[in-house]
Amino acid sequence: MKKISIVGATGAVGQEILRLLNVRNFPLSELRLFASPRSAGKSIPFRSESIPVEPLKLDRLAGLVFFAAGSSISKEWIGPAIEKGCVAIDSSSAFRRNPDVPLVIPEINGHALASHRGLIASPNCAATILLMPLFALHRKYRAKRIVASTYQAASGAGAHLLQELQQETRAFLEQRPYNHYLPFPYAFNLYPHNSALRENGYVEEEIKMADETRKILEDETIQLTATCVRVPVLRAHSVSANVEFREPFSLEDVYKTVQGVPGVAILEDRAANRFATPYDATGKDEVFCGRFRIDPTQPNTLEFWSVGDQLLKGAALNAVQIAETIFK
Ligand code: NAP
Repeated sequence: MKKISIVGATGAVGQEILRLLNVRNFPLSELRLFASPRSAGKSIPFRSESIPVEPLKLDRLAGLVFFAAGSSISKEWIGPAIEKGCVAIDSSSAFRRNPDVPLVIPEINGHALASHRGLIASPNCAATILLMPLFALHRKYRAKRIVASTYQAASGAGAHLLQELQQETRAFLEQRPYNHYLPFPYAFNLYPHNSALRENGYVEEEIKMADETRKILEDETIQLTATCVRVPVLRAHSVSANVEFREPFSLEDVYKTVQGVPGVAILEDRAANRFATPYDATGKDEVFCGRFRIDPTQPNTLEFWSVGDQLLKGAALNAVQIAETIFK
């Protein structure tokens, strides 16, 4: 039985971590919840208790700490927390690219957990939804180059953007004037991902997908180019992928290989022209994929479609699975 702390307990990811600890019967002796001073006075029900939300204080952090409050909080607090004996699982991007920090999707590279020194990073949500159907194929045919396009939900940017999309959509339909939070309307619109723009024209989210793919698949030779787009979907990211492999493959073997992957489900009905949508994936643990097809324009190249709840496998579920694995 462990003491568990959640930093960012009131946020989109933190709330899902809490729910999963409960529904997965995670064994814990004490739960401590932390958020910003804005949440002072709140308490959150958990099992038979009502747990107060505390402001972040080092002497109150205890046991296994889920960090789900953003990169700057992780950068400031994870070092001191580890020094006082905590183990941290970080959902932010703060340490993902640090070579001393394992970046783990348990189904793919769970073995990397053995080398942790008090900190494990949980990967980028869009990368996770791409990699869950891809990793078993990569092991067989070795991915050489990946072209990924994402369709990312509002909740991927946190509770605030989710609320914003709901309110703006209501105002749009009721033809009420609305003061957009973004510099353009979001309801019934979409936009290239607005993480920091680099000099080469890629945004940070696109670079994360490339770097994290190489680290998780443990293959520095993989080339990945991504275009990340935010769409007006409440929850669940979709990814369209074009993957050139080093080895030839058959479509039949692709389906057989992906069918057996834990945490992945093929959702398609070709006769009905029906494939996975964000609605199918919302609230579900699995990443749904399908529409595997051979790209006729280039040898050894596969196209597929993948959809997953980025708050679950893309964040909270993955973090809880990491915790479950290290306590096994
Ligand atoms: P969010 O909904 O905006 O929640 C942020 C949380 O951090 C809230 O609980 C907030 O508390 C808390 N917080 C903010 N400032 C704080 C402070 N000074 N001290 C303590 N707590 C503070 O964000 P999120 O979407 O859950 O994302 C959390 C982290 O997970 C981010 O690093 C994000 O990049 C990563 N992530 C998110 C997703 C996703 O799908 N959303 C997927 C993968 C990774 P208040 O409620 O009091 O403001």
